[in-house]
Amino acid sequence: MHEAKRAGGGMIKRYSERSEPRHLDRLTLESDLQHALEREELRLFLQPQVDVDTGRLTGAEALLRWEHPTRGLVSPMHFIPLAEEVGLIIPMGRWVLQTVARQLAHWQQQGLPVVPVAVNISARQFLHQELVEDVRSMLEEHGILPGLLELELTESLMAHNPEVAVQILRELKAMGVRLALDDFGTGYSSLAHLKRFPIDTLKVDQSFMRQVTRDEDDAAIVTATIRMAHSLGLNVVAEGVEQESQRQYLAQQQCDYAQGYYFGKPMPLEAFSALLAGQGDG
Ligand code: C2E
Ligand code: CA
Ligand code: CA
Ligand code: CA
Repeated sequence: MHEAKRAGGGMIKRYSERSEPRHLDRLTLESDLQHALEREELRLFLQPQVDVDTGRLTGAEALLRWEHPTRGLVSPMHFIPLAEEVGLIIPMGRWVLQTVARQLAHWQQQGLPVVPVAVNISARQFLHQELVEDVRSMLEEHGILPGLLELELTESLMAHNPEVAVQILRELKAMGVRLALDDFGTGYSSLAHLKRFPIDTLKVDQSFMRQVTRDEDDAAIVTATIRMAHSLGLNVVAEGVEQESQRQYLAQQQCDYAQGYYFGKPMPLEAFSALLAGQGDG
C-alpha cells in the first residue's frame, strides 16, 4: 500500500515535469486555433466516395485541414478535440457547412454533375440548439437540394441522450438531409441505434477494413454489418479501402460504396471539382 502510494507520487512528479512543454504547446495551439478562423487558415478537403462495382464517383466526404503559418497542414485529429473542448467547434463547424453549401451551389451553377457531400458533425455541434436552423438557412441561402448534404454522426454522440438525439435527427431528416452513422462498430455500439435512429447510411470503420482480406474475424464483422445494414434498408460505405483486393471483397459482399486511398485521397476543392468535370465528359 505504502509502496504503491510512493510509486504513484513519483509518477505524478515525472509526468508534470515532462508535460510542461506539452502544456505550453497546448496553450499556444489553443490561441492559434482561435485566430485560425479569422485569419482564414482553415481548408476544406474532399475525399471521393465511389460505387464499389463500377468505381463511379458517387459522393464526397468533407475533411477539415488547418494551414498553420509555421506548422504546415495540421490534421483534424490534432485540433478537433481541442476545438470541441473550448467550444470553437461551433464556429468552425458552421464554416465547414457554409463552405460545403457554397461549393455545391457553385457546382450547380457550373452545370457539373453534382454529388452529395458528407460533413462530420461533432458532439457539441450536434447538441447545439442552432444546428438544425443553421443547416436549414444554409441550404436555403444557397439554393441547395437538401439531399445533397449528408451529415456524419457517431454513435457515442447520440448515446449520451438518445431521446434528444432522435428528436434532432428527425428534424434533419424531415428537411431532406441525409444522415450517416460514422465509424460503425467502434466505441459505444448498439444495434438499437440502428432501429431507432432515422439514418440512411452506415459507414464501416476503417479498422475492420485494414485486414479484411487476411483476418477471418474482420471479414465476418464486415460481412455481417453489410447484411444487417441492407436488411434494415441502409446503404453501406466502407472506409479506408487501400487495395484492389479489399474492393473485390466488398464487391463480393455487395457493399454499396467505398472510400479510401485506393480511389482517392482527400484533396483540395479545386482538384475535386476537376474530378467532377471529368465525370461529366465520360
Ligand atoms: P473520419 O470521419 O473517420 O474520417 C476518415 C479519416 O480517414 C480521414 O482522416 C481520412 O483522411 C482518413 N482516410 C481516408 N481514406 C483512408 C485510407 O485509405 N487509409 C487511411 N489510413 N486513412 C484514410 P482525417 O482527414 O485526418 O480526419 C480525422 C478525423 O477528424 C475524421 O475521422 C473526423 O472524425 C474528424 N474530422 C475531420 N474533418 C472534420 C470536420 O469538418 N468536423 C468535425 N467535427 N470532425 C472532422
Ligand atoms: Ca467521417
Ligand atoms: Ca469514419
Ligand atoms: Ca453493388
